[in-house]
Amino acid sequence: MSIKVKGITKLYGEQRALDEVSFSVKTGEVVGFIGPNGAGKSTMMKIITGYIPQTKGDVWVNDLNTLENSLEIRKTIGYLPENNPLYVEMYIKEYLTMVANLYEKKGKVAKKLVEDMIEQVGLGPEQNKKIGALSKGYRQRVGLAQALIHDPSVLILDEPTSGLDPNQIIEIRNFIHGLAKKKTILLSTHIMQEVEAICDRVVIINLGKIVADETTADLRKKESSLEKVFQKLTK
Ligand code: ADP
Ligand code: MG
Repeated sequence: MSIKVKGITKLYGEQRALDEVSFSVKTGEVVGFIGPNGAGKSTMMKIITGYIPQTKGDVWVNDLNTLENSLEIRKTIGYLPENNPLYVEMYIKEYLTMVANLYEKKGKVAKKLVEDMIEQVGLGPEQNKKIGALSKGYRQRVGLAQALIHDPSVLILDEPTSGLDPNQIIEIRNFIHGLAKKKTILLSTHIMQEVEAICDRVVIINLGKIVADETTADLRKKESSLEKVFQKLTK
C-alpha cells in the first residue's frame, strides 16, 4: 500500500474541512481524488505530504507514518501543489537546480538531473527563460519537473490541469498518463473527464466526507455517465 489514510479529521478553527476520511492507494495505482470546490481535496493532500498536520487520524506513505517520518517521506513523494506556486523571477534551470540541491544532488549530478527533467517534461524550447515569462502550460511542466526530480515513487498532483487551455490540458494529461506506468499517483480534480481519461480508481469527496471509493469501471456500470454519478453524490 503506497498511501493509507485512516480516520483523518481536519478542523480549521470551528470548520471541519475533513471528517473521518479513510482511503488507500495501492502501489502502481492511479487514483482520482474528485470533489467540488471546497470539498477538502487540497487539505487532504497537504496532510499526506506533511505540509500541514491533521487534527486527528493517521496517514502512512510507503508504510511510514507521516507524523513520525516526515523527512524520510518527503524523499519518496513528489508534490505539485494547487496553483503551482513558483519563483517567477528565477530561470527554469536555476530553479530546478535549487530543487535538486534540496534533495542533496549537487554539481554535475544536479546539472544532469535538471537536463533530463527538462527533456522529460518537454521544456526544451523554453529552457532558457525565466519562469515568469512562461505560459501557464509550461509553468505546469516546471511544476511537474520539480515534483519528479528526485524520482519519487508516489506523486500527489493537486488539480494539475486547472486553468490550462484545452490543448495544454491534453498535453499535461498525456504526460501524466505516461507516468502512470512508473509511479503511484493520487490526482485531484473537479472534472470527471479527467478521472475517466487517466484513473484506475475514483475516490469522491464532498463536504469533507468520502462518498464513493470504486474502480472507474465499476462506477461506470452504475450510470450512463460518470459525470451523473458525480453529480448525484455531490449535490
Ligand atoms: P478543495 O481543495 O476540495 O477545493 P480545500 O481543502 O481547499 O478544498 O478546502 C476545504 C475547506 O476548508 C473549504 O471550506 C475551505 O474554505 C477551508 N479551508 C481551506 N484552507 C483553510 C485555511 N487555511 N483556513 C481556514 N479554512 C480553510
Ligand atoms: Mg483545492
